[in-house]
Amino acid sequence: MQIHSKQSLQHLQARIFELFTKDTTYTFDTFLYLLSVEIRNFLQVQQCGVYVLDDWEGGFHLNANHKDDGMQWLESFSVHDISFEGSNILHKGEFVNPLVDREASDRSFSVIPLIEDKLYGFFVIQHHSFREMDQQLLRSVRIEVSKSINKVRVVFAALEEKQKYERLYKGTSDFHSTNHSEDVLQQVIQTVKRVYPQFHYYLLLSQDHTCQADLPVKSLTYNKEASSQASAQAYLMGELQIEDSEERDESVLYAPLKGKQGVYGVLQVVSSQLLYFTEAQIEFFDLLSQDAGNALENAQLYQQSRRLNNDLQLINSTSKHLNSTMKLTDKIAYVADRIDQSFGADEVGIILFENESHTSFDILEGSSAFFESPACHSLITKVDRDLVKNDEAVFIGDLTMRLEESFEYHSLMAVPMTDHEYLDGLAIVLHKEPYYFSFDSFKLLQSLVHHSTLAFANSMLHEELERTVITDYLTKLHSRNYLDQKVEHHLNKDKRGHFLLFDIDNFKKVNDTYGHQIGDDVICQVADIIQNTIMDKGLGARWGGEELAVYLPGLTESHAYHLADSIRSTIAVETNPSVTVSCGMASWRSSERPDVKQIVKDADQALYVAKEYGKNRIVVSS
Ligand code: GH3
Ligand code: MG
Ligand code: MG
Repeated sequence: MQIHSKQSLQHLQARIFELFTKDTTYTFDTFLYLLSVEIRNFLQVQQCGVYVLDDWEGGFHLNANHKDDGMQWLESFSVHDISFEGSNILHKGEFVNPLVDREASDRSFSVIPLIEDKLYGFFVIQHHSFREMDQQLLRSVRIEVSKSINKVRVVFAALEEKQKYERLYKGTSDFHSTNHSEDVLQQVIQTVKRVYPQFHYYLLLSQDHTCQADLPVKSLTYNKEASSQASAQAYLMGELQIEDSEERDESVLYAPLKGKQGVYGVLQVVSSQLLYFTEAQIEFFDLLSQDAGNALENAQLYQQSRRLNNDLQLINSTSKHLNSTMKLTDKIAYVADRIDQSFGADEVGIILFENESHTSFDILEGSSAFFESPACHSLITKVDRDLVKNDEAVFIGDLTMRLEESFEYHSLMAVPMTDHEYLDGLAIVLHKEPYYFSFDSFKLLQSLVHHSTLAFANSMLHEELERTVITDYLTKLHSRNYLDQKVEHHLNKDKRGHFLLFDIDNFKKVNDTYGHQIGDDVICQVADIIQNTIMDKGLGARWGGEELAVYLPGLTESHAYHLADSIRSTIAVETNPSVTVSCGMASWRSSERPDVKQIVKDADQALYVAKEYGKNRIVVSS
C-alpha cells in the first residue's frame, strides 16, 4: 500500500507539473480547478471543490468551474464561517458542510487548506462517510498539493504582476504620446480602472483647470477638514498619502501627479470599505501617478510653448503690418481688430488724450461701438483717473466691484499708450463676463500695445512731417510744391481754372519801417484774408517771400476775377499796418490745356504789368 501510494503520489506530482507546464495561458483559478479534478481522480472520491479567498469581498468563493459540476456546493463562506477556531480546524480536516444539503448524513468531508502567511483558500474533498479515508495518503496529498501550489502561485503572481505592469506601461506610453493634459488625465483613469476596477477614482485638480471631458474631476480644497488634509498634503508635499476612515468604512489613497517642476493634481483612489492597500497596489499607483505627472508637465510645457509661439507670431505679424503702412488711422483700425480677434473682446477702445490734464480726449477710428456712445466717457475718465496709476496697465476681473453704478461690462484690461513725446493715450478692452481674460492675455495685450505705441508715434511724427512739407510754416497756407502738384493734377482733369499770383506792394518799406517781425505778421494777415475769401473754392499757397498764389478750379473767369478783386480790396482795408497787393491772373480752358510752367509764367507777366500800371490792381493775362 505504501509503495503503491508512493508511486501514485509521484503520478500526482507529475500531473501537477504537467498541468503547470502544458499551458500557462489559463488563470490561477483555472489551474486550481484542474488540480481539484486531479485530486478527485487520484483519491477516487465523489467530488473535490475549491474555494478561494476574495480579499475584496472578504469571503471564500467557490471556483466558478464548479458551479455546474452537479454538486450543490455552497457559493461562498464568510471568513467567520471558518474562523471560529482559526485555521487549525482545517488542518485537522474537520470542516463545516460545504453542501447546500446539510442533512446528508452519508457524506464526510476532508479539507486541504491553502496557506501562505494566511489562509487564502482550500480544497474540500467529499466522500461517502462509510468509506474510511487513508489518512496518511490524505496527509501526503495535502503536503504535496500545498507545496506545489505555493510554488505555482508565485509564478502566477509574477505573471499577474507582469500583466499589470504591461498595462501600466501601455498606459504611460500612451500618456507621453499626447500633448494634451486632458488626454493624459483620460488615460490615467482608463488605466487604473482596467487594472483595479474595484476602486473609485477622482482627479483632484487646482481650480484654474478647466476640463471639458467627462472626467471625474474634483477641485482641490484646503479647508481644515481631515479628509481634505490628506489630499492637500499629497498636493503640497508631493507624497503619496493613505487615509483610513473607520467611521465611513472606507480607505482612500492620494497619489500626487508630480512632474519635475511641480505637482499638477492628485489621483484619489477610494475603496468603498476599510482595507489596507497592498504594497503592490501602492507601488502601482505611485509609479502611475509619477508618470502621469511627468506627462502632464510635458503637455503643459508644450501647450505653454505653443501659446508663447502664437503670441510671438501675433506680435510679429502685427509689427510687420504696422511697419508696412504709415497711415495712423489704418494702424489703429488694424490693432483694434487684432485685439478684438486675439482676446475675444466685446469692446476695444483706443483713446488719445488731447491735453496734459486729460480733460479732453479723442476716441480713435477703429474703436468699437461702445466707444462711440456717450456712456464711454465716464468709464474712460474713471479708468484714467482712478485705475491707471503711474502709467501702469490694469487688469480687472470684475469691474462692477470698483464702480458705484451697474455696468454691463465686467472684465477690463487697460494699457496706457505713451511715448512721452508724441503720444498720450489708452487702450481699453472690455468683456461682459467677469474674469473673462486670462493673465496671459493681459501680458500679451501689454506687449501688443507697447509695439503699437511705437508704431503709432512713428506715424504721428511722419504725418506731422508730411504736413510741414505741404504747409507753409509761417502762413499755414499750402507750400509752393504742393500747389504746383495740385495745379498739374487739375490741368489734366478740369474744364477750366485760374491761377492768381499776388505780390505785396512796397513790402520792403514795411520791413524797413516796422521790422521783419511785423513784416511777417503782415504776410500772415494777407494769407488769412486770401484763405477766408476763397474758402473751399480753391487752394492758397505761399509762393515765396511776400508772394502768394491761389488756384481756382472750375469757376468762370468773371467769378474768379471777382474773387481776386475781393481779396485785393479787403487787404487794402483790413491789414494793419495797411498794405496793398497787385495781382496777375492767368486762366485756361480745356480747349488749350497749357502746362503749369506756362500758366505761372502768364500770371507772373500779368503781375508785372499790374505793378507797372501803379499797383493795387489786377491784370488778367491775355
Ligand atoms: P514791389 O512790391 O513794388 O515790387 O516792391 P517790394 O518792396 O515788394 O519789392 P520786392 O518784391 O523786390 O521786395 C520784397 C521784399 O520782401 C524783399 C524781402 O526783404 C522781403 N521779404 C521777402 N520774404 C520775406 C519774409 O518772409 N518776411 C519778411 N519780413 N520780409 C520778407
Ligand atoms: Mg516780390
Ligand atoms: Mg513786393
